[in-house]
Amino acid sequence: MTERIDGHTLLISLIATPIRHSLSPTMHNEAFAKLGLDYAYMAFEVGNEELKDAVQGIRALGIRGSNVSMPNKQAIIPYLDELSPAAKLVGAVNTVTNKDGKGHLVGHVTDGTGAMRALKEEGVEVKEQVVTMTGAGGAGTAIAIQAALDGVKELRIFNINDQHYKNAEETVKKINENTNCIATLTDLSDQVAFKQSISESSIYIDATGVGMKPLQEESLINDPEVIRPDLVVFDVVYIPKETKLLKFAREHGAKKTINGLGMMLYQGAEAFKHFTGEDMPVDYIKELLF
Ligand code: NAD
Repeated sequence: MTERIDGHTLLISLIATPIRHSLSPTMHNEAFAKLGLDYAYMAFEVGNEELKDAVQGIRALGIRGSNVSMPNKQAIIPYLDELSPAAKLVGAVNTVTNKDGKGHLVGHVTDGTGAMRALKEEGVEVKEQVVTMTGAGGAGTAIAIQAALDGVKELRIFNINDQHYKNAEETVKKINENTNCIATLTDLSDQVAFKQSISESSIYIDATGVGMKPLQEESLINDPEVIRPDLVVFDVVYIPKETKLLKFAREHGAKKTINGLGMMLYQGAEAFKHFTGEDMPVDYIKELLF
């Protein structure tokens, strides 16, 4: 590290809590080292209470950019100077740029584009497709909006009737008002509608986190008849690499099962491009970390 970090090194931060488990510092630092870029990436345990000071710190210290994760993705918006069109539509930010360290902070969201690129890299085309998805929280909203912007014909969101339901209603409204995609929202307790929707879809996306600890023994699909040889199943979870849903779908002959590692990698790659102007060496990072 002493070989790399000196008085000229520029800092990129990650502000969230909890954050010590994150793969992002390793991913970005390995990519900087591989390309010989004079940046260092550090994680800072920052919650909503410290957020305003942290953003002022980014400006004061000339930190060149930052990733933002929970619980700060929405809370950071009032402290920024500008939002990308997608971040404005999603209402959340996971990447902040501070061009030349001059203090003008722009918020971007790369979760949705990361997810779309992950599908594309697996040969899955979303344009003109009917897509069913569960979950409309942070990840789900970003994916839903980007999927609509990328030309999905119909997006059918199913959500349990919890505190995220209202957000899901707003997301559907935004999609219908701002894109050509037709979006609908249905309570996930209507299992007949859920199964019917998947039977008419070519892609099912689970953006709920069911399948990850503490729900690692659960899956929102348990009926083998729902899985077809022409259905792509994408789960945003990446720990474990194969959730109960993906295992079930693979064993019952789904066309393709895709976990959240690609989304994680490509949302990071896009943030990297925002920070440095360079392309992340994704094959190298994939080999190293995944
Ligand atoms: P969130 O809390 O904002 O949203 C969770 C969503 O799932 C909500 O819509 C909620 O209603 C729904 N939900 C929760 N429990 C449920 C249950 N038991 N049954 C059905 N629906 C349920 O969370 P988030 O930030 O959107 O994260 C969701 C998942 O996405 C997490 O597992 C997270 O690790 C993962 N994620 C992955 C990436 C990636 O790059 N692969 C990026 C962001 C988030």
